[in-house]
Amino acid sequence: MSLVITSDTGYDPLALTESMERVVVDGNKRKYVQLGRTLRFYGGTTSATEVGCNLRCKFCFSDKPVWKPKSTGNFYTPQEVFDGLAKNARKHGHPTISASASEGTLGRQHLFDLLDLVEQSELVYILETNGMTLGADPEFASQLAKYKRLHVRVSIKGCNETEFHTLTGARPSAYDLPFKALKQLIDAGISCNACVSVSFSTELTIQSIQSRLAAIHPGILRSLELEQIKLFPKVRKRLAKHGLYPTYKRTRSAL
Ligand code: SF4
Repeated sequence: MSLVITSDTGYDPLALTESMERVVVDGNKRKYVQLGRTLRFYGGTTSATEVGCNLRCKFCFSDKPVWKPKSTGNFYTPQEVFDGLAKNARKHGHPTISASASEGTLGRQHLFDLLDLVEQSELVYILETNGMTLGADPEFASQLAKYKRLHVRVSIKGCNETEFHTLTGARPSAYDLPFKALKQLIDAGISCNACVSVSFSTELTIQSIQSRLAAIHPGILRSLELEQIKLFPKVRKRLAKHGLYPTYKRTRSAL
């Protein structure tokens, strides 16, 4: 990936946010595939599978929830989602709950209503996001600041805007958004951490993003996750179609 992007070609993730919300959000309901299964992250957690994303990462393992949102999943209220998550979490003694396999910030009212329910419980909600919507709207972090049982995990796709564009097809300028999101979350006093997809990166580009993150707040590096993709057959095939092959294998896998 030595190609340097000089123009801002590619789709706009914020425009894709709006069109996806028209598909996967209905009032304060949002589409999900399932409402509570056990995952091994964080020493055991309960996660729902949500539908709809505002990026199209070529390495994404989430299949139909991202690529076929119209024909995938059903609409659920925040109460139904909380009940599903809490039931599995309590059964297995998981302190944390989340939704994954898509973008967690689509349907802002649904998210806020869900967080209101989490706030009254003993559980902690991990908001999984690519940072596009949070970075674009400083107000969003302010709206989240009242939730104390919330942790935001901001996932950055690639180590620079060239990698980002190659991996997602989105316009390179959108690469700045997750960095803005992290700054706004930290300024608002919200618990958060960053993870970076590094499977197509080099030592040099990884060092450069570490410097960029440290400039926002040195503490970010302590909880930084360097994330490796999982080469499921469909993912391998999609990547090969685009001439993409993972290059960086020395860091630990967060998935
Ligand atoms: S942001 Fe996540 S869910 Fe969305 S396409 Fe990329 S990897 Fe898949």
